[in-house]
Amino acid sequence: MAYSTTKHWQVARFILIFTILASACQNQESSQTEKSDNTVKLKAQTNIKQQEFGNMPDGTTAMLYTLRNGQGMEVKITNYGGTITHWTAPDKEGKYEDVVLGFDSLSAYLTSSPYLGCIIGRYGNRIAKGKFTLEGQTYTLAVNNGENHLHGGIKGFDKVLWEATPLDGEEPALKLTYLSKDGEEGYPGNLQVEVTYRLQKDNALRIDYQATTDKTTVVNLTNHTYFNLLGHTEGDILGHELMLNASTFLPVDRTMIPTGELRAVKGTVFDFTQSTPIGAGINDTKDEQIRFGMGYDHSWVLNPPTEKEELNLVGKVLEPKSGRVLEVFTTEPAVQFYTGNFLNGNIIGKRGVAYKQRYGFCLETQHYPDSPNQKNFPSTVLKPNETYQTSTLYRFSVNSSTAK
Ligand code: BGC
Repeated sequence: MAYSTTKHWQVARFILIFTILASACQNQESSQTEKSDNTVKLKAQTNIKQQEFGNMPDGTTAMLYTLRNGQGMEVKITNYGGTITHWTAPDKEGKYEDVVLGFDSLSAYLTSSPYLGCIIGRYGNRIAKGKFTLEGQTYTLAVNNGENHLHGGIKGFDKVLWEATPLDGEEPALKLTYLSKDGEEGYPGNLQVEVTYRLQKDNALRIDYQATTDKTTVVNLTNHTYFNLLGHTEGDILGHELMLNASTFLPVDRTMIPTGELRAVKGTVFDFTQSTPIGAGINDTKDEQIRFGMGYDHSWVLNPPTEKEELNLVGKVLEPKSGRVLEVFTTEPAVQFYTGNFLNGNIIGKRGVAYKQRYGFCLETQHYPDSPNQKNFPSTVLKPNETYQTSTLYRFSVNSSTAK
């Protein structure tokens, strides 16, 4: 009896010591994989890493995720507003440059961002006077752009912290989710939103948007990245050559609300059906539409796809000095082409650069502005039991035949 008790204790002691040692080794191993300066490399992940980006006013921490593909392209995204802060792309000599406008710190995004790189929601662009009627009920939204509602209101999806899930792989991705509560900024329905950014092997970033609601509502999501294919430090985008797959655009009134007309671009400075320098007609103030937008700030209606392809061509931008090319594809019916007309040099971006007028352009794929009030526009209504689902892809390449 005495013998077996002693033996029992010896076995128990052995198991205890073994367990302590094993757990110590494991802790050491995991801290080795997880700790190194302020960059945290996720265990067993190679193409996505995360680091702290800064603190929100309520003390919660925003993170910054770096997605990298095999070619060396890097896209940095913070879960604050689902914002793309950095994006590098090669020129025709293989030199990578950061080709998007952004800030180095969270605090700058919190105080002064003109929607640089962020997710826009619940409704991209304007809703006239912040009002619309749905199923017999009139809703009043937050008004934040003169008399109109713009980009989801005072605190749109660009100004909230999203839940983030990094997904590693050869094509690393970041899944972001956000619950927009019933009544937020005046919109009806709890809207559960999911946005996934995936960096592909072919230097394309694909964005998949999804949303469901528990009450009939309106949804129009997009991304508001400002591109400058010369590099964000290099001045204006007027020499970039743009082709848009659109024969019509939506003229606006002086408050930037579409009049309801679909106007042919032919014979106007809105004609980008052939590749044309952005600067060629941007200052043509004889054109009332250019005066209203202070340049280009309009929705182009995309020509329908010729074949049954998942994504339709939006357009193509070539920057001739660097040879960088950006092609855009989408499931959406329109694109808001905005030329940074309201940037005025007051905003100091990454590397201390003052972002002046026309230092970046946006190609915001979406439904038409003010659709909830315009019966002839494609519907942006989402009902319970339906799923909102759209995708957009931005692909970089080079044109090596362009002059340096
Ligand atoms: C709108 C502009 C607005 C800008 C804000 C664009 O999508 O069309 O009118 O000023 O976003 O940065």
